[in-house]
Amino acid sequence: MGIAPLDRGDRTYVAGHRGLVGGAVLRHLQAQGFTDLVTRTSGELDLRDPAAVEAFFAEQRPATVVMAAAKVGGILANSTYPADFLSDNLRIQVNVLDAAARYGATKLLFLGSSCIYPKFAPQPIREDSLLTGPLEETNDAYAIAKISGVLQVQALRRQYGLHYISAMPTNLYGPGDNFHPTGSHVLPSLIRRFDEAARTGAPSVTVWGTGTPRREFLHVDDLARACVHLLENYDEPEPINVGVGEDLPIRELAELVAEIVGYQGELVFDSTKPDGTPRKLLDVGKIHALGWKAQVGLRDGLTETYRWYQEQVAAGTVRS
Ligand code: GDP
Repeated sequence: MGIAPLDRGDRTYVAGHRGLVGGAVLRHLQAQGFTDLVTRTSGELDLRDPAAVEAFFAEQRPATVVMAAAKVGGILANSTYPADFLSDNLRIQVNVLDAAARYGATKLLFLGSSCIYPKFAPQPIREDSLLTGPLEETNDAYAIAKISGVLQVQALRRQYGLHYISAMPTNLYGPGDNFHPTGSHVLPSLIRRFDEAARTGAPSVTVWGTGTPRREFLHVDDLARACVHLLENYDEPEPINVGVGEDLPIRELAELVAEIVGYQGELVFDSTKPDGTPRKLLDVGKIHALGWKAQVGLRDGLTETYRWYQEQVAAGTVRS
């Protein structure tokens, strides 16, 4: 029951389908032949509202839930609005997970983030380092909310015998990302900034922090494949990491973006901006053992994402 192919005809709810992750999951499910997909925009259904979420589940009764709805942002947004990141995410998760259990969803995948792990966890980070040390301060509010979600999944399994699971993706990128100049994550921020600099002929581009922190980047289409793979092949209470298994310093990442965008000016590092955690490379041994591996290389993925971004700019539809 826990480890079995999903029925492509079962009703499947993708929470957060307008986001980077939910959008990719929805596209993948469609491509895989799922025929009864349910989505709601935040305007149609405010997931922070318990009564609205309850009514939605009572009516739709999805068999499977992919929980990709969250309030997310980059390092500056997280450190500036911790109260919002904590309470919105707690509300959204509690509402969706409780209602899923109450109205008979037999499978649920909760998506967290690699920032749930301690700031100085041994690298690469194994799943069992959860709750073994203090968190990185710039995103501790978001991390605590996500840790609560992992615990809620475990509690629902224990109390009701449900086959709910949690996956912890590393830093993600790809089409459908948020390119807000200050609120977004490093890759969309840099793509936007280098693209603008290339267009205007600016002599330099500012990169936040010292350029020395190392990060790992997973294309969101790879994550979408992992989500279905895990729903069909993983049924344990412990969260499972989803990553590439390789990382690079932010300086090298910025140089790669500059090259792809065709920007030839200088890079300036603004050390008044936070670096965040020094490194967060995930150990992906567990998911590799289940037969899933990332396929999209960073250069190819970035080239494709930049092409997508340029199309959005041309169409005037950049999300920010
Ligand atoms: P994090 O992985 O949670 O720290 O999230 P981010 O993607 O926001 O930041 C990753 C790293 O990239 C941090 O060390 C940032 O300081 C650095 N960085 C460099 N330039 C930028 C930028 O323009 N925006 C963001 N968000 N981060 C940047």
